[in-house]
Parts: sequence; structure tokens; C-alpha cells
Amino acid sequence: MGKGTQAERLEKNFGWVHVSTGDMLRDAMQEGTYLGQKVKKYVERGDLVPDDLMVEMVRDRLSKEDCKKGFILDGFPRTVIQAEKLDGIFDELELKLDGVISIEVSEEEIVRRLSERLICAGCGRVVTTGGNVEKDERCSVCGDQLVRRKDDKPETIRYRLKVYEKQTRPLILYYAGRKLLRKVDGVGLEDEIYCRILSALGFSPGKG
Ligand code: AMP
Repeated sequence: MGKGTQAERLEKNFGWVHVSTGDMLRDAMQEGTYLGQKVKKYVERGDLVPDDLMVEMVRDRLSKEDCKKGFILDGFPRTVIQAEKLDGIFDELELKLDGVISIEVSEEEIVRRLSERLICAGCGRVVTTGGNVEKDERCSVCGDQLVRRKDDKPETIRYRLKVYEKQTRPLILYYAGRKLLRKVDGVGLEDEIYCRILSALGFSPGKG
């Protein structure tokens, strides 16, 4: 929760490439590519996209030149199979995983925050409405319409949480066992959470 915003800040301050699998899938869906058409049904109902598609997408992205300067994976891996395949990709590309951040937020808080979130249909900016959603509200940056993500409907949010419990939570043990896991309290202001992430990564909070 809030992982995209925090990853963007890390990208801006450290120059690491923000690799968000959710953004990549939404772009493919919007552009109507072959991949986009294939994944639409999974994303919109809140299911995970099959591992083989995800792993190929991530392998392609991490092979690109810009990732040599360092990158943050946002939303990947989400299953133990993806994590095992990611280990293989890191070996293949001679990369090293420095750490895994788990931003910890209660279920009620996740449902509340996601229900209040809109995104700009034009530039993809995330806007928190505080619950007051005006009809036909516009983005203050590009002027395009603010919309709700199809998978941010309350019933889909609850379904995504179930999917998380079953398929993604086991990764906590997977990375804790490898001494890579850093848990961060995700309750508080964006700046506070950012400072906690910096400390968890071993940087002084003065950075960025
Ligand atoms: P996110 O923007 O990270 O919340 O991802 C939005 C949706 O994209 C998820 O609910 C999944 O349907 C899909 N997705 C993103 N990353 C993955 C992944 N690593 N594995 C499978 N599906 C994913």
C-alpha cells in the first residue's frame, strides 16, 4: 500500500529505475497490446496474472541497459514461484538482490485507502480524495479525468486481499529466511514512511 509512491521517491532521489509490474500491465492494457489483452481479465477481477507471463515480462525489463544503474521492483515477485524464478534471473544477469521491503498496513486501512484513491486517466497520477469524490473531478497536473481503477472497487479490494494472503504472504518467510526482509510500518504520513524505508535500507533519513 503506497508502494508505488514510495518507489517513485526512491527513483527520484537515488536514480534507481522504478520497475512496477502493475504499471507495465496497465500500460499494456491501455495500449491494447497482445499481452494487454491477455492479462486484462486477471487484473480487472483482482487475480494474479500467470507466473510465466510475469516472469518473462520482468526478465525482459531487467535486461535493459537502464537497469544496470540499479532498480526497485514494485509489485514483483508476488508468488513463491516468481521469487524462485527471480533468483534465476538475477544469476543469469549477474545481479544481486540487496533487500526486500514489506510495508505493513492493516486490512481495514488498506480497504479505506484504496477506496479513497483515484488515478488520472491521462498521466496516471494517484490522487487520494479523503472520501469526497466529486463527479467529473480533474487532474490538477494535466487536466484529464480522475477515475477509479477497476480493481479498486470494495469487493475487488477484498478479493485482492485474499489473493495476497494465499499467494503473496508466503514470500515474507521466503525472504526472512534469506535475511533479506525489512518490515516497515506503513501507517503514518508519506514522509514518515519514506524515512522508515530509508532507515530500513541503511541510509540516513536526511537523504531525499
Ligand atoms: P499493483 O499495481 O501492483 O497493485 O498491481 C495491480 C494488478 O496487476 C494486480 O492485482 C495483479 O492483477 C497484477 N499484477 C501486478 N504485479 C503482478 C505480479 N507480480 N504477478 C501477478 N500479477 C501481478
